[in-house]
Amino acid sequence: MRTYRIAVLPGDGIGPEVVDITVKVLEALQKRAGTYKIDLVWGEAGANAIAKYGTNVPPQTIEMLKTTAACLKGPMTTPEEPGAPPSAALTIRKLFNLYANVRPCLSLPNVPSLKPNIDLTIVRENTEGLYSNIEFEVSEGVGVAMRVISRKASTRVARFAFKLADRRRKHLSYVHKANILRRTDGIFNQAVLDVSKEFPGVAVESIHIDNMAMQLMKRPESFDVIVTTNLFGDIISDEAAQLVGGLGIAAGANMGENYAMFEPVHGSAPKYAGQDKVNPIATMFAGKMLLEYIGEKGSARELQSATFEVLKEGRALTYDLGGKAKSSEMCEAILDKIRRT
Ligand code: NAD
Repeated sequence: MRTYRIAVLPGDGIGPEVVDITVKVLEALQKRAGTYKIDLVWGEAGANAIAKYGTNVPPQTIEMLKTTAACLKGPMTTPEEPGAPPSAALTIRKLFNLYANVRPCLSLPNVPSLKPNIDLTIVRENTEGLYSNIEFEVSEGVGVAMRVISRKASTRVARFAFKLADRRRKHLSYVHKANILRRTDGIFNQAVLDVSKEFPGVAVESIHIDNMAMQLMKRPESFDVIVTTNLFGDIISDEAAQLVGGLGIAAGANMGENYAMFEPVHGSAPKYAGQDKVNPIATMFAGKMLLEYIGEKGSARELQSATFEVLKEGRALTYDLGGKAKSSEMCEAILDKIRRT
């Protein structure tokens, strides 16, 4: 039997609830398939770990992560006071060099969406750009932040995006502001164009970031894979998530050469913690991406179709989708579909 050792970090606020539900669903899928086994290894991370360990990603969690093939991460509260540790997601991304942030946006049945046929994926460079964390106050009241763009990181993320486009509808849009940021986005764009030669079957489209913000509203259904630098990607991936129904259903993957971390896009929503109220689909879809990553594509498809059926029926919807169901009721409805498949 194929066996996968997977780390689970439940996180803070609503994290433990939505992660528990996702684990139940993964276990049901594994049972249905009967051909593989997921060994879950639970770890502590997030704001809840700070009082106990003095940090949000304790060393024993890091050691544990190193023994696993991938990680399912719940949302975590990021403390904002001066001197607090950086976001746990950022620490894990850096530790494992998870250079590509992948955010699929798909129109779902019965979920308000700007257009009914949106199916795009944003690939955001995850390691540099304006998030390089190099900032100075050069003189009183004047700050400077460095936007680091390297050919190496741009080539790596471009190749990742082209491979994805090649497996999908063979269309790649690269997003930049090279008319203003000539050197940095000049390097990014050249890397994309160089890599494009390896993928002659993939059509390439160049779009300025400001135009992209508009085109996503105007013709979201025309996009397939979108690749861009860190800050632009951060902004348009939230915009794109809203096009198809918002935070309750949006999942993301952080991909590296040898490791990957899957998480809902939303945060720890502390005001809803422990209420069995929030939408668990975002974390379930993170679980679906994890299944695809480890190669269990059949189970990933089953999870998607069970979720689609429950959405179509419209009986077990959480508040954000206009329903009254609890998270656990939505989970039960999805589990029921999986068991009956
Ligand atoms: P948030 O995403 O936690 O919540 C904002 C609002 O979105 C909630 O009040 C709720 O109305 C809605 N929402 C979120 N998740 C939902 C779900 N599953 N179902 C239905 N509605 C949902 O954003 P925030 O309040 O800005 O941040 C709270 C904390 O989470 C902060 O500490 C922030 O730093 C952290 N955060 C963590 C991550 C992460 O771990 N990847 C991501 C974003 C924010």
